[in-house]
Amino acid sequence: MVAKVIPVAEQRYPDNGAHIPAVLEAPTGLLADTRGRALRDLRISVTDRCNFRCVYCMPKEVFDKDYAFLPHSSLLSFEEITRLARIFAAHGVQKIRLTGGEPLLRKNLEKLVEMLAALRTPEGRPLDLTLTTNGSLLARKAQSLKDAGLTRVTVSLDSLDDAVFKRMNDVDFPVAEVLHGIEVAQQVGLGPVKVNMVVKGGVNDSEIVPMARHFKNTPVILRFIEYMDVGASNGWKMDEVVPSAEVVRRISAEMPLVEAEPNYSGETAARWRYADGGGEVGVIASVTQAFCSDCTRARLSTEGRIYTCLFASAGHDLRALLRTGRSDAEIEGAVAHLWSRRGDRYSELRTINTEGLSTSRPKVEMSYIGG
Ligand code: SAM
Ligand code: SF4
Ligand code: SF4
Repeated sequence: MVAKVIPVAEQRYPDNGAHIPAVLEAPTGLLADTRGRALRDLRISVTDRCNFRCVYCMPKEVFDKDYAFLPHSSLLSFEEITRLARIFAAHGVQKIRLTGGEPLLRKNLEKLVEMLAALRTPEGRPLDLTLTTNGSLLARKAQSLKDAGLTRVTVSLDSLDDAVFKRMNDVDFPVAEVLHGIEVAQQVGLGPVKVNMVVKGGVNDSEIVPMARHFKNTPVILRFIEYMDVGASNGWKMDEVVPSAEVVRRISAEMPLVEAEPNYSGETAARWRYADGGGEVGVIASVTQAFCSDCTRARLSTEGRIYTCLFASAGHDLRALLRTGRSDAEIEGAVAHLWSRRGDRYSELRTINTEGLSTSRPKVEMSYIGG
């Protein structure tokens, strides 16, 4: 018998396994966790690799040439991802976001987009199919992604100043190429494009107002994200978080903002409109104003583990079920079992006890389960 070799990268994080209950209930689309939260969004990480080394996500000192990324055999195939996505859609998922790592590094991603675009909710509607990217390959890929059925894109951009941006991406990547990617995405109809800016105090907070100014009066929706204590590599400190309230205050001082209604319940970004009609910005206050009570997101890691929280220390291995010939009904049962037991509310607890949580328990990297 040939001994089964488990790649080092798969042993990095604990796995809680996925339990198939004795009684399999058919999905109703109405699954709820212990806090009454539905399952509506699925973020799928299609690669744990990236061509950037953002200091807050994949710092070079950790993600160096010796870092053990997942080998190709560990990755879920497009067929496996699509099968799981179909099962999640049966349980109520309406929105899928492809992420990573850098999702556009996954070969033939358009093929996966095409397969996911063919899925339907139990009511027969297509899923909202989006992607988050660092924008480096977007200009080249936007048209084929649109043709494959992608609905929209979110592009990460932390500064308009080349020196600041290069310090943050740490691979000398210029701002102009990301801006060009955003432009092409808009031209091919992948809009409205959202731009995510992670604000790290003392590093790029001087860029808050210039970024707001740049995207005001354009169709781009700029969103400011509080620097989070995800993973164990970025050396997060609370005093590097610029609270969203401060972001709004700084922009408002030059370009007055008024609060806008959320688009839907569970929206992570709080919306603010320019008083003069110049569009809107969003702030994602994941640290200072936890939104766990509305969190309807599950995350599927690159090698097929489900995480019910961005800060969970262990996932649930669905790939093992896929690769041991389990039926859709059995996998649906396993998903229902784990979601109905979910009680995660890490950010709320962090707010109660700021320092303790970030250091006291192991956490998975964002580049591995996706933002
Ligand atoms: N590579 C793609 C990108 O950068 O858009 C997709 C994956 S990335 C992990 C997804 C999002 O997470 C990005 O918008 C990124 O800025 C954000 N992110 C990563 N680390 C973060 C942190 N420590 N705090 C807040 N946001 C973070
Ligand atoms: Fe790569 Fe995105 Fe993480 Fe930056 S934030 S290192 S682009 S995965
Ligand atoms: Fe959701 Fe966990 Fe983030 Fe709370 S901390 S909003 S439960 S992912």
